[in-house]
Amino acid sequence: MKPVLRDLTVLGNSPPCKPSRVKTDDLPQEKCGVVGIALPRGEEAAALNYYALFALQHRGQEGAGMTTSDGTTLRQVKEMGLVNQIFDWGAFSKLRGHLSIGHTRYSTDGSKEAAQPFNCESEIGPVALAHNGNLVNTRQLRAEVLADGGSLDTDIDSEVMLAIFANRLVDGPLAAAREVMERCRGAFSVTVLTQKLVIGFRDPYGIRPLHFGTLPDGGFMIASETCAFVPIEGEPVRELNPGEMVIVENGEATFHQVVPPVREALCLFELIYFARPDSEMYGGAIYSARERMGRALAQGDKVQADIVIPVPDSGVPAALGYSRASGIEYAEGMMKSRYIHRTFIEPDDKKRKRGVKMKLSPLPENLDGLRVVLVDDSIVRGHTTRQIVGLLKANGAKEVHVRITAPRITFPCFYGIDFDTREQLIAAQMTDAEICTDVGADSLRYLTLEAAMAAVGQPESRLCTACFSGRYPIPLPPEQHALAFS
Ligand code: SF4
Repeated sequence: MKPVLRDLTVLGNSPPCKPSRVKTDDLPQEKCGVVGIALPRGEEAAALNYYALFALQHRGQEGAGMTTSDGTTLRQVKEMGLVNQIFDWGAFSKLRGHLSIGHTRYSTDGSKEAAQPFNCESEIGPVALAHNGNLVNTRQLRAEVLADGGSLDTDIDSEVMLAIFANRLVDGPLAAAREVMERCRGAFSVTVLTQKLVIGFRDPYGIRPLHFGTLPDGGFMIASETCAFVPIEGEPVRELNPGEMVIVENGEATFHQVVPPVREALCLFELIYFARPDSEMYGGAIYSARERMGRALAQGDKVQADIVIPVPDSGVPAALGYSRASGIEYAEGMMKSRYIHRTFIEPDDKKRKRGVKMKLSPLPENLDGLRVVLVDDSIVRGHTTRQIVGLLKANGAKEVHVRITAPRITFPCFYGIDFDTREQLIAAQMTDAEICTDVGADSLRYLTLEAAMAAVGQPESRLCTACFSGRYPIPLPPEQHALAFS
């Protein structure tokens, strides 16, 4: 088999980076998945990292990358594209080493520069970093890094964080992580690779998930979601706490509470929509939480309907819950292509529209003349819902009643999901009745925020609910505050 190995980079002798353009805003750019793998010396981590990244493909489909270390040399491949388009067995044979980190990326800029891990030279050698989340004070940090004589190649927050981390690494990883946690504001779940260490740490609010666990035969693993452990027989042990770091060195993992947690604020949208249903967070199964959301949606719903159908695949558990609670028969109204990207995480509206048509194919024999309850996880911009309702009606559905397990999304997210202005959010612009008309539905109902929190079994004090409530757990800089509330 011909190796597909794009831009294998051996890190360690890179020239210092040049200062680059100054970022003009602090808007979110990514929603990603991260992995860290540490095996006993002599084993190869790249293939395991690949399988873990593949399991996290839903967290970012624009680009992916992997960096490995054999204890001396760091090697890296990163590229735009899906995980299985970037890596193959030829790549693994060249990405040598028992230590590795990886990243799947959703980017709005679509450039290869944006692919991660980022890397740079520190005083003690090369270091690479993979980041899930978004900082809210990037502009200020960029200015500080450049004023300190640092250099940056991109305007991406993750590179700024790496510069801050690498600059303190000479004092040890604990000092470096403390420097990041004290200066970087926002969401960050991170994996870091040096010549001899695999590190994971999480911001003091724990907005993005990060799990630690073991691998067979003495290995360790860090990953955004527990679903990444399954294909490589990993055993999730626990989530890192907000403000906590794990360092894996010489076959031992040590945990450090780097800064006191400010509060827990896991993104509620992870539980409703983004995480894979076979993952667990806060000790609970995502699938079960979504099934309970569907049951809650059915409570008090007087709609007269013949069947309940999901928007596949993400609406399936909630549709089953709705069906079980309402007694309305569950059916499939559409088939999903297994080989097309998720539409919400496509980086522009044109691609999203095309994506819906490629992704979902109706089953007219299951729809003809029927009153349909359509269960989906969220309405963000409204385009997808409008197209799906139109698709169902064009294929025989007599009525389509839309039921949404996310509460109304009325505020932007600055912590790593790509809706950064209120103008993008249909629920911030229209009433429920107007949205119902706009998407062509016969009725529309959202889960309340209270019911969503009850379904996930967590109080608001342990969650970020900002895009639903306007209550941002991390204070916003003035310009983002204006975007959220003006
Ligand atoms: S604002 Fe919404 S999407 Fe963003 S982190 Fe908070 S709950 Fe999640």
